[in-house]
Amino acid sequence: MTRVPHLSARLQGFGTTVFAEMSALAVATGSINLGQGFPDTPGPAEVLDVARAAIGTPYDQYPPGPGHPVLREAIAAHVQRFRGLGYDPADEVLVTAGATEALTAALLALLEPGDEVVLFEPMYDSYAAAVAMAGGVLRPVPLYPPPAGDGGGRWTFDPAELAAAVTPRAKLLLLNTPHNPTGKVFTRAELAAVADLAQGADLLVLTDEVYEHLVFAGSEHLSIATLPGMRERTLVVGSGGKTFSTTGWKIGWVCGPAPLVTAVRTAKQFLTFVNGGPFQPAIAAGLGLPDAYFTGLAADLGRRRDLLVAGLAAAGLPVVSPESTYFATVDVRPVQPDGDGMAFCRSLPARAGVVAVPMVVFYDPADASLGRHLVRFAFCKRDEVLTEAVERLGRMSP
Ligand code: PMP
Ligand code: GLN
Repeated sequence: MTRVPHLSARLQGFGTTVFAEMSALAVATGSINLGQGFPDTPGPAEVLDVARAAIGTPYDQYPPGPGHPVLREAIAAHVQRFRGLGYDPADEVLVTAGATEALTAALLALLEPGDEVVLFEPMYDSYAAAVAMAGGVLRPVPLYPPPAGDGGGRWTFDPAELAAAVTPRAKLLLLNTPHNPTGKVFTRAELAAVADLAQGADLLVLTDEVYEHLVFAGSEHLSIATLPGMRERTLVVGSGGKTFSTTGWKIGWVCGPAPLVTAVRTAKQFLTFVNGGPFQPAIAAGLGLPDAYFTGLAADLGRRRDLLVAGLAAAGLPVVSPESTYFATVDVRPVQPDGDGMAFCRSLPARAGVVAVPMVVFYDPADASLGRHLVRFAFCKRDEVLTEAVERLGRMSP
């Protein structure tokens, strides 16, 4: 690989994120953007109105370092309501600049150089970069798609491969459920296996649960922090971005035992210190919305999942129907005989006027072959946009 000038050795190999590249391609070609996961409809008025009203008030100034009390209290009440876990808003809840900062600050705070991080791949793209910035070492464990033809099947992992990834240098297990990009929701049995391993090897657990409310009928989100013995070693990361269709606001948080949250806060205060003043009371209002808001969000998105999944299958793309998130995965080999998902995505604007994201970017380079033929499509778009996209995909040129 050619060296990028000026860039530190830690960050060599991390170019422009695929989301930036593919969103720019969508704009440049006028294609429908089913790449980067962001909704094309506004969030709930109850949330947007609070942000509007907060502008021009003291909320425009620096929030307190850990976040506005109203938001920390709302986060604690929300975790109690949906997960049955109690966190003290005073020192067990920290507001961050999106889940991204929560994860990066946690890794910077907790890892010594050379410490190993065990995680499943494909993995959300910021994980590898954040581990690298912290001087850590990735120990990826593959998730395997269901066998060809089993579109209703689930992504799974081999517990023996998971156990083998834990060496004496392992410090932390980074989990993501519901999982981007596969749409997998880890079951209680799967989480119990992960929890056993974490306890046996005395690992910290950092769990990214930003899609907690986007779970479709038949699946249920569980936080590993609720399993016996896990709360004390686990940091739970959340975000208002997906739940309230406000991905540009970047209001995230982390909950955990006070000593762990204090460590994360130490790193966080020198990354951004604070962010998003007027958005903090707005996300607090959102977290307090009645249950019907959260179930309605998932039901509506589930309907759009079905629309896209049916359209992808009709276009000749074998697709795994996701249990959660914004994303469905396809195998491009029937329409891209060389199986190169990156080449497929780069040519898709010309072939069909649609943009998607190649899954290979979510794999460690050493394991790229596992994801080379897979491509992710987002369905967090209006029905008419999805309908037009699947029509275009149905007419895709060879
Ligand atoms: N984790 C996962 C799994 C994600 O998909 C995303 C982005 N959508 C993030 C973290 C980042 O969340 P935020 O925008 O709150 O930083
Ligand atoms: N999480 C979003 C996705 O997976 C993208 C966020 C980003 O652009 N970094 O599409």
